[in-house]
Amino acid sequence: MPTAKESICCQEVQQIDAKRGSIHQLTCITRHPGFGPVCLDEYVLKTAYYQYRSQYGELRTTTEERNRYTAYRQLVRWCWGYLGRNVRVPLPACAVTKIRHTFSPTSTECSKTQNQNGTWTLLSSSHIYNRGGLEQHQ
Ligand SMILES: [Zn+2]
Repeated sequence: MPTAKESICCQEVQQIDAKRGSIHQLTCITRHPGFGPVCLDEYVLKTAYYQYRSQYGELRTTTEERNRYTAYRQLVRWCWGYLGRNVRVPLPACAVTKIRHTFSPTSTECSKTQNQNGTWTLLSSSHIYNRGGLEQHQ
């Protein structure tokens, strides 16, 4: 069952638990002050992806999937440091869920909300990111 590997608690994975335990009374790795910047910041993930790309070549997939994949790699790099090429490690459900939720396929859609003055605010962070890319080409 593919989900079995994910349905573990972060306290059951030694390396992740060590990271979690570095903060006094922290119950979950996703509440660690480093988790967001390392695994959920799209600019950090984009930069980390450039490193990946220079080593392994382009990842042909959607931006969201690339972010999820890079976030898992970041989590491993953060907690394990260096991991050998064919070494696989289990990732706890809490971290996987948080990353999936942050970079879900639905968030690629251009979702907008209308402000009281009639202007629109873009909600999708990926859209803002794309817009930044377009601005670069001007
Ligand atoms: Zn947890």
